[in-house]
Amino acid sequence: MKKTNLSIFIPHVGCRHRCAFCDQRAIAGTSDDVTGDSVRQIISEKLPNLIQHSYQCEIAFFGGSFTAIPRQHMLQLLTAANEYLTLYPDTFTGIRCSTRPDSIDDDVLLLLKHHGVTAIELGAQSTDEAVLAKSERGHTAADIRQAAALIKKHGFELGLQLMTGLPLDTPSKSLQTARDFVSLHPDTARIYPTLVMPNTKLAQMYASGEYQPFDLGTTIQLCAEIYSIFTESNIRTIRIGLNQAEKLKRDIIAGPWDDTLGERVIARYYLNKLLLHKEKRLRVCYPRRLTSKILGVRGENRDELTRLGFDVTFEEDNSLSDIEISV
Ligand code: SF4
Repeated sequence: MKKTNLSIFIPHVGCRHRCAFCDQRAIAGTSDDVTGDSVRQIISEKLPNLIQHSYQCEIAFFGGSFTAIPRQHMLQLLTAANEYLTLYPDTFTGIRCSTRPDSIDDDVLLLLKHHGVTAIELGAQSTDEAVLAKSERGHTAADIRQAAALIKKHGFELGLQLMTGLPLDTPSKSLQTARDFVSLHPDTARIYPTLVMPNTKLAQMYASGEYQPFDLGTTIQLCAEIYSIFTESNIRTIRIGLNQAEKLKRDIIAGPWDDTLGERVIARYYLNKLLLHKEKRLRVCYPRRLTSKILGVRGENRDELTRLGFDVTFEEDNSLSDIEISV
């Protein structure tokens, strides 16, 4: 069975205020209000394709603060999604949603569980108080810790979203955030480098010179180190960077945008692994699915290793599940 998400964007629904960096309408590419009926319509449109290709799927509410939506509206959305879980149990395995750390309590978690929610992602972004305040998140690191613990206590899959390059952030603060996340035992993580979008406070800060984004090179190395921290702790990184590439490219004012960011970050992770070896003559074996990640986008890793004087033999071996390096 192939797995996928059926994403339903609820831009800014439930958000009490606008965080300095956020324009979900640009990210999601929609500003339509979502109702129970529109949820049914979105799912019904995608259903034949999901069934035809034997997908197993979670219905995912992204782009707002799901648990902060007025209760009546939230119940409409959940009820609509839950109908499909009941009618098509082979296709729909659960509901996932993203929300704010300060909008989690026992009552809402019991409600979500009752309506078939299986995974909750927290837009945590940073554990540094100064970064959270300057980004106008409106919550503290303690809120993140409490929400994560409650979500785990109620038996949900926990996802944590981390942003690099927020106002007042530094690479070492982002790395500390990653380590702090590990201590909260999430199942999944997403890593989003901060981009400057129009119609945001961050755009004003950038225009006045108060904010400068991380450059692409710093971002790739930093995200590779964060990816390594998560991977070594058995936390699955399910996304690096935003998608909706074509739309975003037109809307971004500044920031480390790259169409292949996720691939380049994972390629850097493998390059960093190879560079740890003191021996310059290496044999590197890996399954075919990792070829582009080991060699790098457009062979960048191979070229860099050659430039640094390494003599590496690369071999595909589909009996392996991961990279094996020998001297
Ligand atoms: S970052 Fe999240 S909480 Fe903040 S405005 Fe955007 S959707 Fe709402």
